Amino acid sequence: MIVNITSLSESEDLNISYEELLKLPDGYNLFDNNAKVKVEGVLKKHNNLITLDAYVTTNIYFRCDKCLAKVEKVLEFPIKEVFSSIETDDDEIWFFKYKEIDLDPCIISNICSEIPVKILCNEDCKGLCKICGCNLNLENCDCEEVIIDDRFAVLKDLFKDDKEV
Ligand SMILES: [Zn+2]
Ligand SMILES: [Zn+2]
Repeated sequence: MIVNITSLSESEDLNISYEELLKLPDGYNLFDNNAKVKVEGVLKKHNNLITLDAYVTTNIYFRCDKCLAKVEKVLEFPIKEVFSSIETDDDEIWFFKYKEIDLDPCIISNICSEIPVKILCNEDCKGLCKICGCNLNLENCDCEEVIIDDRFAVLKDLFKDDKEV
């Protein structure tokens, strides 16, 4: 969301409240890169700095780390950010030009740092079968039995060979 700050002054804060779809970067095991984001807060001006105090609520569709199923998570968190129209070396301060602040890069960056390290559809997710790939939460397969049978068969064969020698 690009916010026009023409009406913002030392004596007049600017309330913001909006909802939009933001595209999250790759690399987070996302089912869908588009996240619905709600931002509610206030912009304040102090000297040359503008501060944003806001509350972010977002619905994100991830993939379960184990079974890859779609998992919806709601992340909610407060943010406090500083913007300046004067370029500085301080990487905590967001730069903006003219009378408009594009909040999206700042909001996306905050969402990314709130994404949990581990995403599971369920604490007890059984994951996918390593052999046939079926989702073990939804179906059962005989893969494990086959392995045991194979191993047993090999042992039996060895035993047979020993006896025959
Ligand atoms: Zn799962
Ligand atoms: Zn299997």
